[in-house]
Amino acid sequence: MNQPQMEILSHDILVIGGGLAGLRAAIEARKAGKDVAILSKVHPLRSHSVAAQGGVNAAFNNVPAPVQDSCENHAFDTIKGSDYLADQDAVEIMCREGLDRVVEMERWGTLFSRTEDGKIAQRPFGGAGFPRTCYAADRTGHNLLHVLYEQVTGLRIPVYEEWHALSLVVGEGRCIGILAFPLFEGKIVPIRAEATILATGGYGRIYLRSTNAIINAGRGCYLAYQAGVPLEDMEFVQFHPTSLYGTNILITEGARGEGGYLVNVKGERYMERYAPHLMELGPRDIVARATQREIDEGRGFQGQYVHLDLRHLGKEKIMDRLPGIRQIAIDFAGIDPVLDPIPIQPAQHYSMGGIPTGVDGETPLPGLYAAGECACVSVHGANRLGGNSLLETLVFGKRAGKKAASIVRGRKEALPPSAFHKQAEAIRAGLRELSSRSGEESGFRLRDELKTLMTHRVGIFRRKSDLLSAKEKIRELKERFGRTAIKQNRLAFNHEWLLHLELEGMLHVAEVITEGALTREESRGSHFRTDYPERDDERWLLHTLAYKTPEGTRLEYKNVTITNSPPKARIY
Ligand SMILES: Cc1cc2nc3c(=O)[nH]c(=O)nc-3n(C[C@H](O)[C@H](O)[C@H](O)COP(=O)(O)OP(=O)(O)OC[C@H]3O[C@@H](n4cnc5c(N)ncnc54)[C@H](O)[C@@H]3O)c2cc1C
Repeated sequence: MNQPQMEILSHDILVIGGGLAGLRAAIEARKAGKDVAILSKVHPLRSHSVAAQGGVNAAFNNVPAPVQDSCENHAFDTIKGSDYLADQDAVEIMCREGLDRVVEMERWGTLFSRTEDGKIAQRPFGGAGFPRTCYAADRTGHNLLHVLYEQVTGLRIPVYEEWHALSLVVGEGRCIGILAFPLFEGKIVPIRAEATILATGGYGRIYLRSTNAIINAGRGCYLAYQAGVPLEDMEFVQFHPTSLYGTNILITEGARGEGGYLVNVKGERYMERYAPHLMELGPRDIVARATQREIDEGRGFQGQYVHLDLRHLGKEKIMDRLPGIRQIAIDFAGIDPVLDPIPIQPAQHYSMGGIPTGVDGETPLPGLYAAGECACVSVHGANRLGGNSLLETLVFGKRAGKKAASIVRGRKEALPPSAFHKQAEAIRAGLRELSSRSGEESGFRLRDELKTLMTHRVGIFRRKSDLLSAKEKIRELKERFGRTAIKQNRLAFNHEWLLHLELEGMLHVAEVITEGALTREESRGSHFRTDYPERDDERWLLHTLAYKTPEGTRLEYKNVTITNSPPKARIY
């Protein structure tokens, strides 16, 4: 644990995260001639982006439709889908620039599925009036991420693989870099950077039922929160209607885009009652609530799940458009969707909230930028439309990289090392203290209790009494967290310590979500209060900002940017 002489690394720009947003940001900064490096706790190709299935939205008009699609239509669908909480200027940028970003990905080599005449194929997705989602079968994220990684390799951008960001370092009111922990080497390494870009993805794993990768535990959001940056709109948690019963692996919305039906135990296509026009292609919040309601009211199978039926699509279409989904159903549920319906239930899927940014990724802390799922620019507002997240990573990843490059002045070596040394010493002292505790509480038990609590009390349907008890319970978990210990006090390969740090972040993120949900006395998008079932624009057409204080979370609010689409009733 002793580390007499600390090496210090320096870069103009450090990108934390090797998913789509991080890689896209790094490419842009490198092309602007800057010394940029990527740091990721897993190999970039293992980032959750690789699991994205259904596709990425762009209004190309490649598929015949009754009316022409346009950027304006895409923006309107996104804003309506967001239940009018999205910042409309950011949405307009995403929909406009998204066309170029997708074409760029095609030129760089993405193997998109094709129409008969060779254009990028597009499928219908939830909440969209047009077949707008460009796809590579049901492995779109896989294809996009490999293509970006190839660019990163070609540009010789260094990647610190299996390095963890432990904390942001702030000096003279700016972010001046991070403390990093290379897992294999067992040391704490300061990395100075004139600009740091957080692209650390979502926090899904604070929920028991989640479609997210195990690595998505929200530590990146916590890094910013801990450094004094507020978190925005965290109460808006997306639940996906169709995760595989038993494992909660995602079954893409593309399955319904290709024509799949949702059916309850009575054999009814129940979406008829909830979104009679769009049916299974209603937006996610509505389909997830409808599905959960069917299950809660006794119209599910074994009180747990409903069916996603693809059989009528036929073997050929399933094999061509949804080969990954078929394989997942066979491997993890023992069901071939060609022959039998897939058992599905809703699960946490995406985080609409995150680190607040402007349209160039700038956060309230100078020197710190954010992009992708960890950020809240806010293009998704209270509910994200499927296919818009991949688009967001490309559009705002690029913008953040460009903006960060523009502020670099070649001063990285002048950033004062003292703040890094002090903070590293505090971290080492923390580890010593932690491993000397008697440890009557188990971090694993706390983690399980937290996840169960979040799924059952801060889930799809919320009410005051549940949220109050969740708030109380999270306080108790935080207090018990102070009595956990770890056995290993060496740094190298100390997974136990990393899990401890991760749990710390999970508890804080859960507290922010719960506090925001308790205070917001209305229903909007994914946030549904059974005791306040209506949207209330008079009081709540506002973004939430949550600040960390020694007593817990303090909430403030800020206005939503409205340009062309004043709020209206949301009917599908
Ligand atoms: C199963 C699934 C399917 C999806 N399908 C679609 C889809 O079809 N269309 C769509 O638009 N969206 C989809 N989404 C959402 C979309 O895939 C994600 O929102 C998006 O890919 C997130 O990209 P990102 O770059 O922000 O983060 P990620 O890809 O999650 O990457 C995060 C990176 O941060 C790194 N990291 C995190 N914390 C640290 C730390 N402390 N230190 C160092 N590194 C760290 C990780 O190693 C990782 O490299 C899907 C999501 C899931 C879960």
